[in-house]
Amino acid sequence: MPSYNVAEKFVSINGEGRRAGQLAVFIRFFGCNLRCSYCDTAWAWPDAIPANGPGEQLTNDEIYQYIKQSGVQNVTLTGGEPLRQPHILPLLEQLAADPSLAVEIETNGSQPLGPVLALANRPALTVDYKLPGSGMETQMRPQDLARLDKQDVVKFVCGSQADLQRAEEVIRRLRLLGRVGVYLSPVWGQIEPAAIVEFMRQKQLNGVNLQLQMHKFIWPPDARGV
Ligand code: SF4
Repeated sequence: MPSYNVAEKFVSINGEGRRAGQLAVFIRFFGCNLRCSYCDTAWAWPDAIPANGPGEQLTNDEIYQYIKQSGVQNVTLTGGEPLRQPHILPLLEQLAADPSLAVEIETNGSQPLGPVLALANRPALTVDYKLPGSGMETQMRPQDLARLDKQDVVKFVCGSQADLQRAEEVIRRLRLLGRVGVYLSPVWGQIEPAAIVEFMRQKQLNGVNLQLQMHKFIWPPDARGV
């Protein structure tokens, strides 16, 4: 049975996406192909479990059992980059077979979405579109965003006015509004949420949501397992 390098697993509230504020059980995988300038989970970048570090290798069944024993119905698969896990599709199929679970994947916008979109009872996707300030925009796959629908979210993490302007361009060019959830979120410590609201007001961005990183208000900004 395939196994996965899991960086941490825990129950908390969803900080983003359609179910923000609701309880969720999180599975965070090791490994990320991007290096965003503002990353707050750099400790989960390595593909392998670090010696003397956190993490454990878990099989499909062990992940499923952990989720079930938590009693929580929302499941968030995150990272790192969960879609880089070589055996993620069998895990998604196993989770999809349980109608009591609502599964969501947080993905960084650089991975092909076709295999997930083709699944029966597929999970919801929260897809980041990395803006210029991240240093990772060239890795984005905007063509895949055309295939998302109302259960999905495209999130823009903005650290500057230049990022906001680019986010607006992408939102309008890809006709995201009304088709998927669209969220603007500030880079912690780089831009005030009020500046994002002002941008939304000036540009009449109806249907766009401001999303604050709830965890950073509730717990210390560098807390893990929350
Ligand atoms: S995609 Fe996410 S985990 Fe990877 S570097 Fe960017 S912010 Fe960090």
